[in-house]
Amino acid sequence: MIDLQCNTKLAGDYKSKSQIARILTEDWCGRTLYCAACTSDRLHQSTANTPGLDFSCNSCGETYQLKSSSRYPANRIVDSAYSAMISAIRSDHVPNLLALHYSQHWSISNLLLIPRFSYSESAIEKRRPLGPNARRAGWIGCNILLSKIPPSGIVNVITEGIVVPKSTVRNAFQKMKPLAGLRPDARGWSLDVLRVVEQLPEKFSLADVYQFEVELSRLHPGNKHVRDKIRQQLQVLRDMKYLRFGGRGDYERI
Ligand SMILES: [Zn+2]
Repeated sequence: MIDLQCNTKLAGDYKSKSQIARILTEDWCGRTLYCAACTSDRLHQSTANTPGLDFSCNSCGETYQLKSSSRYPANRIVDSAYSAMISAIRSDHVPNLLALHYSQHWSISNLLLIPRFSYSESAIEKRRPLGPNARRAGWIGCNILLSKIPPSGIVNVITEGIVVPKSTVRNAFQKMKPLAGLRPDARGWSLDVLRVVEQLPEKFSLADVYQFEVELSRLHPGNKHVRDKIRQQLQVLRDMKYLRFGGRGDYERI
């Protein structure tokens, strides 16, 4: 069990459970987390109150944002302002996300890593504006929908209290890394087609991918040639070694 309680004195006089959780989990991560992108075994906690940035790697410069919750992030991760998230995605300035799930008894149950190039606008859900009585009335937040991220873009770091080996985490990060080389608008398409392909059996046909045409059209309403785009993206994924083309219009995931 990965116990946070040994450091509860850090939480001092805080009474709010979410504030205590933030302090304990950030402390644990500061002592324990390593960089998934390089061989550095330490991450540095950023100065308090830096918006949207919690940890960074001094060796490679990757940034990580920690989201802690007492609920398992089964479907979505609550994030901050919708407009800020969309502009960060479009300008390729999103951090790697760490979704930490702690138990009622202050132990770490699960930790997911979502590399920054694994999520696109397709995964961002706009929340309803805050009501007129809220302190920030009219403010619009967002959720990150895990179901709209390719399964290989969601990396387990801790699963039900069991720590996944560093090398496995780093390999999973590197597997997604070729997507970092794409422009953010192009990457959105590649991620959506990769997610579809990862839902199919290991060997599949073009017709199998075309079954998702309506869903992909909804995610990209400006594109009128979705089938052309699907074929183009299958080539992109092949060039990145996620797929191999068979002889007769069939495909295989690698
Ligand atoms: Zn690093």
